[in-house]
Amino acid sequence: MQQMERGHVLTCSVGECSYNANEVCHAPNINVGATHPTCDTFTLGNVNQAPLGMPDVSICSVTNCRFNKNNDCMAPGITVAHHGTHADCLTFRVGE
Ligand code: SF4
Ligand code: SF4
Repeated sequence: MQQMERGHVLTCSVGECSYNANEVCHAPNINVGATHPTCDTFTLGNVNQAPLGMPDVSICSVTNCRFNKNNDCMAPGITVAHHGTHADCLTFRVGE
């Protein structure tokens, strides 16, 4: 069976997130929320996460995004930025 490639977090400008260093996300992976493309892995506080490189989108529950296939993100890469006080996937596009 062919391995499904998951989307990677290319950049994130949410500098106050504990996983963010110089616009690179250092979380092991991220989850994106259900009714809105929010990064659910966003966290404040001290996580002491060593740099790991570009994380994958582990699960994305935004089923009306054209890049979503069975809760996997099939975009070649995603960009995350502020939406108000939270973090959103800007690569979200409505479609099938
Ligand atoms: S907001 Fe999400 S994508 Fe951005 S650094 Fe934090 S965990 Fe990573
Ligand atoms: S591009 Fe679409 S499928 Fe990928 S993480 Fe963003 S909202 Fe989810």
